[in-house]
Amino acid sequence: MPESLTVELTELRDTCQAFASTYLVGSDSSAETRAQIRAAAKSAGLFGLTQPTQQDNAPTQLALCVARETLAAANPNNMDSVFGPSAGVLGGVTGALAQSHLEPLLAGDKRASFGFTEPDNVQPTHGQITGEQLIVNGQKSYVTGGADADFINCLVHIEGRGPSMVVIDTNKDGVILEKKFVSLDGSHHAAFRFENVSVPSHHIIGEPGQGLPKAMRQIGDTRLLFAAQASGYMLWTLELLKAHLTSADKSGEARGNKDVVRWHYANLRIKAFAARSMLYRTARLADEGENIVNEAMACKVFATETIGEMVDTAIQLVGGVALVEDHPLAILYRKVRGWRLAEGASDVLRLNIGRGILELDRGRI
Ligand SMILES: Cc1cc2nc3c(=O)[nH]c(=O)nc-3n(C[C@H](O)[C@H](O)[C@H](O)COP(=O)(O)OP(=O)(O)OC[C@H]3O[C@@H](n4cnc5c(N)ncnc54)[C@H](O)[C@@H]3O)c2cc1C
Repeated sequence: MPESLTVELTELRDTCQAFASTYLVGSDSSAETRAQIRAAAKSAGLFGLTQPTQQDNAPTQLALCVARETLAAANPNNMDSVFGPSAGVLGGVTGALAQSHLEPLLAGDKRASFGFTEPDNVQPTHGQITGEQLIVNGQKSYVTGGADADFINCLVHIEGRGPSMVVIDTNKDGVILEKKFVSLDGSHHAAFRFENVSVPSHHIIGEPGQGLPKAMRQIGDTRLLFAAQASGYMLWTLELLKAHLTSADKSGEARGNKDVVRWHYANLRIKAFAARSMLYRTARLADEGENIVNEAMACKVFATETIGEMVDTAIQLVGGVALVEDHPLAILYRKVRGWRLAEGASDVLRLNIGRGILELDRGRI
C-alpha cells in the first residue's frame, strides 16, 4: 500500500516532492540546467539511490518505487537527470572490466547503452572466441542513447556457449552507427551493425552462456520502475482532471456534473487505485526476496496501459485545447505511448504471464 510507509520512506517521499517542485519545473533542458539538477540530486541523496556501492546499502524496491512515483507525480522536466546511472548488467563484475567500465559508468565518466532488440530477418548477433578475442558480427536496431554511448551491453550468441552479455566499445573498428532516430516521446536512439568487431574476451559479463538470465533480470527490474513512473503520471493526470471537472463550463455549471463525464473520471480512478495497489504489493514482495517476474510483468502491462488510456480520456474530457502541441496532456500522450513496447510489448508479456502459470505454475493473483 502507498499508505503505512516507514518513517524513512515517508521522508524520502517528502524529499522527492520538495525536489521536484524546486528543481524539475520549467522547460529548460540545457546541459547547464541538467548539471545543476545532478548536483542538487547528489546533495539530496537521490542521485546515488540507483547505484549503491555495497549490497547492504542497496535501496529497497519499495524505496525506488516511492521515489520514482513521487517525482513523476509532479509531471517533471529533466527527471532523467535525477538518478545516477545504475550498474545494470555490469552489477557484480570485478577485476579489469570493473575498472575499465563499471567504475567510470557509476562515476558518470562513461555512458552505457543496452543492445537487445534486433531487426527481423537477420541472423542473431553472434560471436566466435579466437584466443583472447571474441569476434562479433550482427545488428542491434533500437539502442537508446546509443549515439552518445561509450559502450553497449549487448546480447551476443557465442558459438558453442550460448547467449552472453558482452561489453562492446562504440569506438572499436567494425562498430558501425547505421542510423540515429528519435521516437515519438523525443528520446534518441541508434541502430548499429557489427562487422568482425574484435572484443577482448574478458568483456564477456559473467559466465559465457548466462547472458539471457542477466539481460532478463535487468529488464525485469526496469519493468517495476516503469510501472512506478506510470503510476506517478496517473496521480498527476487525475489531479489535472479534478481541477478541470470542478471548474465551471459556459453555463456556469461544474463540468463534472454531467454523468458521462463523471463515469469516465471514476473509471480512471478505479484503475489508478488498482495499479498503485499492484505496484506497492509487488515491491514489498520483491523486498521480501520473492520471485516477482510474473507480478512485475503484470504491473508493467497494467500501469502502462492505464496511463495510456487515462491520458487519452483526459484529452477527450478537456477538449481540443489539450491537443495543442505544447499542452501538458499532448506532451504526455507522446511520452507514454512507447512504454507499452519498451522493456517488452504488452502482448508478449501477456503471453509470458500465461506461460508462467500454465507451464511453470508461477504467478500470484
Ligand atoms: C522508447 C523505446 C526505447 C527502447 N530502448 C531499447 C533499448 O535501449 N535497447 C533495446 O534493445 N531495445 C529497446 N527498445 C526496443 C523494445 O525493446 C522493442 O520495441 C520491444 O521489445 C518490441 O520489439 P520489436 O519492436 O522488435 O517488435 P516485435 O517484437 O516485432 O513486436 C511487435 C508486435 O508483434 C507481436 N508479437 C511479437 N512477438 C510476438 C510473440 N512472440 N507472440 C505474439 N505476438 C508477438 C505483438 O503484437 C508485438 O506488440 C526500445 C523501444 C522503445 C519504444
